[in-house]
Amino acid sequence: MRTIAVWRAGRKPMTEAVTIARYCIGSDNRAVFREFAMPHSGSCMCGAVSFNVTAPLSETGACHCGMCRKWSGGVFMSVAVPEGGLDIKGAENLTAYASSPWAERVFCKLCGSSVFYRVTADGPMKGEMHVGLGTLDDVSDLTFNSEIYIDRKPEAYAFAGEGRTLMTEAQVVDLFGGVVPD
Ligand SMILES: [Zn+2]
Ligand SMILES: [Zn+2]
Repeated sequence: MRTIAVWRAGRKPMTEAVTIARYCIGSDNRAVFREFAMPHSGSCMCGAVSFNVTAPLSETGACHCGMCRKWSGGVFMSVAVPEGGLDIKGAENLTAYASSPWAERVFCKLCGSSVFYRVTADGPMKGEMHVGLGTLDDVSDLTFNSEIYIDRKPEAYAFAGEGRTLMTEAQVVDLFGGVVPD
């Protein structure tokens, strides 16, 4: 049996598709529809803001930089979502703090939950969001595969396990063309 992952976009544009489907081609060559990736939903702590993620998610990463630690009150773990990849209810309850000339931190103005980091600078990453892992309702299908600003991580804690991509501050800055992406 071979499997092909496809979008089930229906009549909606791709950016609104919330379901990914897998067609399993059986030995009789007939396609059998099976849903394999659950659509992800999330909310802030008080529920005034809720959302559906309309892009496929498979991985999560942690940032140990000082700004993410201050903003989240811990370690900021997030999932990358392209511009337009969130269908938000209660967006009027969100407010943004421009943490640098190239990004903003968006949070619920009623309960303070850190909802997402968003790139505001012009360029290929403009609009990309890093949605707080903790705001998602179910993350059981995601793989934790990267840690950035690893050289900024306080000695007091470390994640267990191996095999993740680890990047120092210098490596991250390099990746972003010499600009610190905070
Ligand atoms: Zn809230
Ligand atoms: Zn960070």
